[in-house]
Amino acid sequence: MAGVAENLKQIKTQIDPVARAAGRKPDDIHLLGASKFQEEPALLQALDAGLRLFGENRVQEAAQKWPALRQKFPDIELHMIGHLQSNKAAEALAVFDVIETLDREKLADALAAEIKKTEKSPRFFIQVNIGEEDQKGGILPQNADAFIAYCRKLGLKIEGLMCIPPADDPPAPHFALLADIARRNDLKQLSMGMSGDFETAIKFGATHIRIGTALFGPRPTS
Ligand SMILES: *Cc1c(COP(=O)(O)O)cnc(C)c1O
Repeated sequence: MAGVAENLKQIKTQIDPVARAAGRKPDDIHLLGASKFQEEPALLQALDAGLRLFGENRVQEAAQKWPALRQKFPDIELHMIGHLQSNKAAEALAVFDVIETLDREKLADALAAEIKKTEKSPRFFIQVNIGEEDQKGGILPQNADAFIAYCRKLGLKIEGLMCIPPADDPPAPHFALLADIARRNDLKQLSMGMSGDFETAIKFGATHIRIGTALFGPRPTS
């Protein structure tokens, strides 16, 4: 965990040339710290280094870790990047600014119903199961257009798409497919790319890269 600031600097020096080569501004690539299992000392290192965008995988873990830090750093933006159960919709909306893992009608219905009861105006990414893996969340690529339309009709503010390609595949074709689905649905944001493949993701249009290990080092196990 020593060296989060250095790791951040290193990642940014990697983002820069790839973004420029793709004709994009490095500042348009948002680096999200994937902070599951990371505890306050590591989070504070990232915050002190200037990072404000974080992703968590579990509602309860996020609810324990982040409210106190938000008092100190009001401009934190927190994204939900893990599987979300529909019975946790209200809790998730209380903690997160953006939910990136919207992937089925039941969850969309639950979120829309909860939002009606609040003043909140949360933003969403739709997760696409880009490699059509049984064990992964996400809407199947062939159902994505209809699901995006469904969510929009509910009034959910859909900003982009998110994916996690299969671990053993070259990621490029998966990133290209996600970018295609976004383009034809007029969605501008793409959350794709992790420690091992963020440079490829940027080439294919990632606007948000989710970095855990390369930023914090190996994850503590819970
Ligand atoms: C853990 C996690 C990441 C970060 O993975 P690293 O390979 O450690 O960078 C990104 N996205 C999601 C959804 C994750 O769960």
